Amino acid sequence: MSIKDYESVIGLEVHIELKTEHKLFCECATTFGAPPNTQVCPVCLAMPGALPAFNQQVAEFAILAGLATHCSIEPWSRFDRKNYFYPDLPKAYQVTQNDFPLCRQGYLDITTSEGVKRIRIARIHIEEDAGKLIHLEDEGTLVDCNRCGVPLIEIVSEPDMRNGEEAVAYLRKLRAMARYTGISDGKMNEGSLRCDVNLSVRKKGQEAMGTRVELKNLNSFNFIARAIDSEFKRQVALIEEGGTVVQETRRFDEKTGQTLAMRKKEEAADYRYFPDPDLVPLEVMGEEVERIRAGIPRLADERKAQYIHDYDLTDYEAERLTDDKELSDFFERAVVASTNPKTLVNMILADVAPLYTEDTVEDLLNPVSLGRLSDLMAEGLINSNTGRKVLKALMEEDFDPDLYIEEHDLAQINDREKLMASVERSIQANDRAVKDFLKGKESAMRSLIGGVMRETGGRANPILAEAMIREAIEAPEQP
Ligand code: ADP
Ligand code: MG
Ligand code: ZN
Repeated sequence: MSIKDYESVIGLEVHIELKTEHKLFCECATTFGAPPNTQVCPVCLAMPGALPAFNQQVAEFAILAGLATHCSIEPWSRFDRKNYFYPDLPKAYQVTQNDFPLCRQGYLDITTSEGVKRIRIARIHIEEDAGKLIHLEDEGTLVDCNRCGVPLIEIVSEPDMRNGEEAVAYLRKLRAMARYTGISDGKMNEGSLRCDVNLSVRKKGQEAMGTRVELKNLNSFNFIARAIDSEFKRQVALIEEGGTVVQETRRFDEKTGQTLAMRKKEEAADYRYFPDPDLVPLEVMGEEVERIRAGIPRLADERKAQYIHDYDLTDYEAERLTDDKELSDFFERAVVASTNPKTLVNMILADVAPLYTEDTVEDLLNPVSLGRLSDLMAEGLINSNTGRKVLKALMEEDFDPDLYIEEHDLAQINDREKLMASVERSIQANDRAVKDFLKGKESAMRSLIGGVMRETGGRANPILAEAMIREAIEAPEQP
């Protein structure tokens, strides 16, 4: 059999750090990047006798996440202790919700090159984060407890994904959910969105799932896609050789592009879960859920449907815009200043989106100016080359596009009379191109149009210029 006869079965466990003001069980701040051990107190340092006090905002955020992913919200859930020793976990246990999670049975719809697919979510539960270890070369290891007790939600999917593209699309959807609802900034590079991948393989058409491997410490979409690809090939090769996949935890080596074994199932810890005796169960009333539901802002899918309907965008365009809250907000501000949404969207997706990274897109340029610029292009007042130049300038410094075009004399020449002289000069200067074109070489037209562009400082309407050149050189010889 060949690799084409196999498929991956993938389930993701995603941790999202909640952007609450305080930690889960104390009043400490949760700001990222504060000096080490400045956001700690007896509770999150697990001093003897310190008692936790549950932060209501965490429940609200977790419920918000549950509602935004179509989960049912359990009226009764409970906190358990997950016991393990680790230097960055002073309590020696993590508070989590093992047996009775807050949210169950939701889903997210993802869009890939194959179309729309529903990925089921098994559960969402609340837990606390551990601190951080900082390994110094030759000098030992430092412990920073600022992150101890920062609230997390863990979102566990059903094993519904079949390849890296689907896994990444699902993660993007989750990140968008976190940002649209405002529960987290979802930054992978700062660890506020973290993902473990469970992957097994099976023959296509087979129902039963194979033995899964868990891939840990994957901190970018790119690594996740590469790790999935590499682990899929490894498992298939192993099976094809007559071997068997063992349940284990592996990590992805970014340098070699391979996954490496970390620990086997037999070596896995027994966490000795038990209900936390210091915490009462979490009881959620129906009215509370409805109050939170009423406050949910417009989410990605709703915006997407609206864009398709109001602006006649394609599914792909609307998906790309709403995939990212910043970009979607940017579009909404720009589109008010534009009467040609299609041109605007083309410019955003082709010229703005590729330059935009995690930081806010508004820093790149003023959306209102871009809205106006798209109109100038759509209405033929400037040509697309000029448009791209003006867009570049707008990223340097904001200005009024109309004034700028006037001051720099960039308006497109749409007037036959005004273009006539340039067309004639281009034809005279490009004898060769004229001959080539008349012999049937269509591409020679480009240098003739180029001549007109040079003559007019790039301002000629290229479509009109081409039409005039054709008329002039294809015209039958005068008798
Ligand atoms: P555990 O309690 O050991 O963490 P779970 O049943 O909670 O196991 O599953 C963890 C994740 O692994 C889920 O996202 C689930 O969809 C996924 N998963 C479970 N079995 C498989 C399998 N055979 N292949 C791929 N993924 C799996
Ligand atoms: Mg698990
Ligand atoms: Zn604290």
